[in-house]
Amino acid sequence: MRISLLGATGSIGQSTLDLIAQHPDRFELRGVTANQDVEGLLAIVQRMRPALAAMADAGAAQQLRSRCRELGLTGTEVLEGASGLEQVAADPETDRVVAGIVGVAGLPSVWAAVTAGKTVLLANKEALVCAGALLVQQAKACGATILPIDSEHNAMFQCLGPDYRCFSRPVGVERLILTASGGPFRTWPADRIAKAGVSEAIAHPNWVMGKKISVDSASLVNKGLEFIEAHWLFHLPADRIEVVVHPQSVIHSMVAFSDGSTLAQLGSPDMRTPIAHALAWPERISAGVSGLRWDQTSRLDFEPPDLQRFPALAMAQACLAQGPAATNVFNAANEQAVETFLAGRLAFGGISQAIEATLNELVSRLSDPNSLDAVYEIDRQARRVCADWLKKQPSP
Ligand code: NAD
Ligand code: MG
Repeated sequence: MRISLLGATGSIGQSTLDLIAQHPDRFELRGVTANQDVEGLLAIVQRMRPALAAMADAGAAQQLRSRCRELGLTGTEVLEGASGLEQVAADPETDRVVAGIVGVAGLPSVWAAVTAGKTVLLANKEALVCAGALLVQQAKACGATILPIDSEHNAMFQCLGPDYRCFSRPVGVERLILTASGGPFRTWPADRIAKAGVSEAIAHPNWVMGKKISVDSASLVNKGLEFIEAHWLFHLPADRIEVVVHPQSVIHSMVAFSDGSTLAQLGSPDMRTPIAHALAWPERISAGVSGLRWDQTSRLDFEPPDLQRFPALAMAQACLAQGPAATNVFNAANEQAVETFLAGRLAFGGISQAIEATLNELVSRLSDPNSLDAVYEIDRQARRVCADWLKKQPSP
């Protein structure tokens, strides 16, 4: 089976490459993409020899091209820019596409893969948050299959059974129970959370991930994005999706059925498990992850999320009720605020304030996007409004 990997140099990318390398008889890496990390992508090209390698940054692509030439890596065609990424995503020789780009930047290539009718292993939740309705419609029209690899959604997908397909309403399901670790600030008082620094925010207690999603996990924005993601993937209304904090991250999510059964998927917090599940689906392969040891699992705790200390989760849920323009703005403001926080120019507490200010300023003036261009236009407007608000904030 030939795999193309969007966002190959990132955390999802590395986990996927590890699995492909573990199963050389089963998988062939056909294409890879990255933003601007030339040496990172070059190392992958040297090791795995994909036919296609695309870089979003044209200058970086130019450098990669000459480095490949120097090293005699003539079997890899180097592509560049948005069209290069889309070419990898829609490549006719590719069987499955792993969507591991972070942020709305991943939406064009997810769209290209869906339009080409691919089986898409979706990690890039922001694509669904920004363009859920459009992507569902396009996937149905083009015969694309979505396999969720965000660990919670993959857990629910597994619980729904082998015949279930994303975007259809699951039969006999009462509720989806989305688990959250609670992040590094789960037990912190509000005033300490407001002043938290970058190194504290990216120190996730259970998972090792890219910086942006680590900050999102600390603010519970990630759970808000996942709540919206679950709504689109599993075609259930918001009042049938519940968030529960489960600090051990052993249960990756649950599905409650109408007969009183609740199914859960349990495992180690290692993304190779959900990615392996989707790479091999409907079969199973080894992932190099050891299974759950009951003798080393002392307890499973549950508590409700604290929406006072983590207001962004409640905001995301309210945005889902308001509609696609609101979720679009929520995502854009968060991306802008997290970037500013990571650059040391915003206090942690400012992230949810920036989202709130941008939503208040903008959403009532917008109508829901009916095309990808409209999605990108809302994204641009929200970033502008958010940037204006951020400029007025004192440095932390
Ligand atoms: P990361 O920061 O480690 O990697 C991001 C990748 O995207 C890199 O390869 C980078 O080159 C590429 N990229 C960034 N900006 C780009 C741009 N403008 N154009 C093209 N490519 C660009 O991120 P990650 O942690 O691997 O997360 C990737 C996605 O997967 C996110 O949507 C995240 O929410 C989701 N996800 C990640 C994890 C995890 O464990 N890391 C778990 C669940 C879901
Ligand atoms: Mg997740």
